Amino acid sequence: MMKLILEKCIACKLCEKACLFGGIRIENKIPILTDLCTNCGACIDVCKVGAIESAGTKKGPVHNIELYKDVFVIAEQHEGVLQPVTLELLGKARELANIRGAAVSAILIGDDVRNLSDRLIQHGADRVFVAEAKFLNYYRTLPYERIISGIIEEHKPEVVLVGATTFGRDLAPRIANRFRTGLTADCTGLEISDDGLLLQTRPAFGGNIMATITTPSHRPQMSTVRPGVMASNSFSKRKGEIVNISAVEADGDGLVEILSRVKKEKKGVLLEKAEVIVSGGRGTGDPKNFKMLEDLASLFSGQVGASRAVVDLGWIGHDHQVGQTGKTVKPRIYFACGISGAVQHLAGMQSSDIVIAINKDPQAPIFQMAHFCLIGDMHKIVPELISQFQKNS
Ligand SMILES: Cc1cc2nc3c(=O)[nH]c(=O)nc-3n(C[C@H](O)[C@H](O)[C@H](O)COP(=O)(O)OP(=O)(O)OC[C@H]3O[C@@H](n4cnc5c(N)ncnc54)[C@H](O)[C@@H]3O)c2cc1C
Repeated sequence: MMKLILEKCIACKLCEKACLFGGIRIENKIPILTDLCTNCGACIDVCKVGAIESAGTKKGPVHNIELYKDVFVIAEQHEGVLQPVTLELLGKARELANIRGAAVSAILIGDDVRNLSDRLIQHGADRVFVAEAKFLNYYRTLPYERIISGIIEEHKPEVVLVGATTFGRDLAPRIANRFRTGLTADCTGLEISDDGLLLQTRPAFGGNIMATITTPSHRPQMSTVRPGVMASNSFSKRKGEIVNISAVEADGDGLVEILSRVKKEKKGVLLEKAEVIVSGGRGTGDPKNFKMLEDLASLFSGQVGASRAVVDLGWIGHDHQVGQTGKTVKPRIYFACGISGAVQHLAGMQSSDIVIAINKDPQAPIFQMAHFCLIGDMHKIVPELISQFQKNS
């Protein structure tokens, strides 16, 4: 904690300006620490008269880390349908919890959703907290955040995982803010150290580097993960505990009222569900050459994907784009044809089961992660593949 030495303070307000959190204020020429102080020490660094000292370690843990254990997943369901990202998060949560010798819990909220608990348990949860009520039938930020935060407050998980969906992107920052903890959005990789530090990897600086972010002093450690990045696991005959959470409407829950719901029609390319994707990059050479990629994809009832370079060139629609600013896919087979393998492209397809890369440059980065590397001109290789697959089908 910070210690103020009032007799030294000259009320210059440098500390107030240096504090990013509103943790210190000068009122009537007297410095006051507020609840928002994070103990970061920025005010000590700028104070020229030594009026602020750290009463403890300058950058010690802010929360009592020892109290926090287990991995929690916030389940996402809409109208009683569990979203696949929840099962993927449970797969990763199980892996992290096993390393920590901890348990996995899922938080499930809605109206008449208890029947989904078994599926959560089957996919890795040891315990499911279920809050059911009519007023929770559709997601609304305030009541969902209030109820979930109550469960987190009581059970103190070490890690909380949420899908990087519209639901998770709205909910997770609210919860993180409530606990004054960190949140790493859109993670593509999660690992945990033996002492419980979550290593959260995500593209940073416009996607030019992969950064690993940690939350050393605050708990819980919170991450959102895009759908399709982690693998789900189903364990047959698992048993788990179901914990009922009483859900009562509170003042303020009704600040946002849902008047009507309009379902967006799902049109176009369903890359996320495709088992085989044949993607083309700048090496495709011309928009008309995407026809051969369609022909290859159609042999497997697959879909055509693309790099951003060709989308930007207008050769194919954005619906087809795979990558950081496109779709995240996880097919059984991903063909990368004339694609160099930029980190932003890999961010969207690196979880594919098998990657077959076709590139005329043997040094192309895509070859570093591909399972099968076909070095040569795609305009010769792709037609040859089509003819061989047709012969053997
Ligand atoms: C913030 C940000 C977000 C981004 N988001 C995405 C994203 O979501 N998805 C994405 O894809 N990119 C994204 N990018 C762009 C990314 O950095 C690359 O520029 C892009 O992926 C390159 O596309 P490409 O591989 O098709 O083209 P290039 O990098 O130009 O590679 C073309 C490849 O084709 C090969 N080639 C050429 N001719 C042939 C041939 N006849 N036969 C075989 N191989 C051939 C070449 O050897 C080369 O390796 C993003 C960039 C930024 C900064």
